Amino acid sequence: MSAAVYDLHSHSNASDGVLTPGQLVRRAHARGVTALALTDHDTTAGLAEARAVAAELGLRLIPGIELSASFESHCLHVVGLNIDPSHPSLVDGVARQQDLRVERARKIADKLARKGIDGAFQAVARAARGGEITRLHFADFLVGVGRAKTQQDAFDYYLSKGKPAYVATQWAGLAEVVGWINAAGGLAVLAHPLRYKLSNKWINKALVAFKEAGGQGVEVVTGRASGDDIRFSQELAAKHQLRASVGSDFHAPENQYLELGRLAPLPLGAEPIWELF
Ligand code: AMP
Ligand code: MN
Ligand code: MN
Ligand code: MN
Repeated sequence: MSAAVYDLHSHSNASDGVLTPGQLVRRAHARGVTALALTDHDTTAGLAEARAVAAELGLRLIPGIELSASFESHCLHVVGLNIDPSHPSLVDGVARQQDLRVERARKIADKLARKGIDGAFQAVARAARGGEITRLHFADFLVGVGRAKTQQDAFDYYLSKGKPAYVATQWAGLAEVVGWINAAGGLAVLAHPLRYKLSNKWINKALVAFKEAGGQGVEVVTGRASGDDIRFSQELAAKHQLRASVGSDFHAPENQYLELGRLAPLPLGAEPIWELF
């Protein structure tokens, strides 16, 4: 038997991915992934379909979620793995996050309107088709109406912190989010630790709080991370005695995202989170 191929971070169109949950699972399977976590932003709505298709194909589907969390003035992303999506604490928490997402989307649209860009809320709501609205939907909208050349430009000129359509949001606190995941029987993993651009002092402070709250892992291999990024992230994991996770953060077949089934291996000495599944 060949070894399992894990990808523990991916998105469907239940949030800001472009594939349906079923299409995502089929693509992962076709590219050699044998254990896939679907981790949509603040929603578990895609899990039932993903589970059904995974069962057909003999792929192991790990029910997951990616929750936005506030830590002091920073927004961090926490991936929950092997969660029970029907656990009441998680269900309540997710509903709150979803309200915050709609509220924030309206505010972002208002700010864009002040820049002379109208109709953003209707457009992103239509594009999300009842799924969670993220800033990536706004980025696509801005590209679509010719206000940005690429998704990256849309973030750089409008959507990132400090830009005209940025809206600071008070998500649930880091400890609270970890608590929902653990209550639902899941393992909490700090997603893409280097993408927050925190200083050494702050990422370590965040990991101390995360561990104290019951967090179990850090994404050591994430998307297109470089060898140096992977080594640094593994050092963080080791220092805080956290398990190592791997995830593509796949959103779409094109553009900047890593293709499914192409993740670099964990560095030597890493303790894989899946040993706890
Ligand atoms: P949100 O959780 O609504 O703030 O949206 C965050 C999502 O936007 C991330 O999960 C990515 O999919 C996407 N994103 C964030 N920053 C960038 C960026 N600089 N370029 C492209 N996509 C980004
Ligand atoms: Mn996303
Ligand atoms: Mn993320
Ligand atoms: Mn993600």
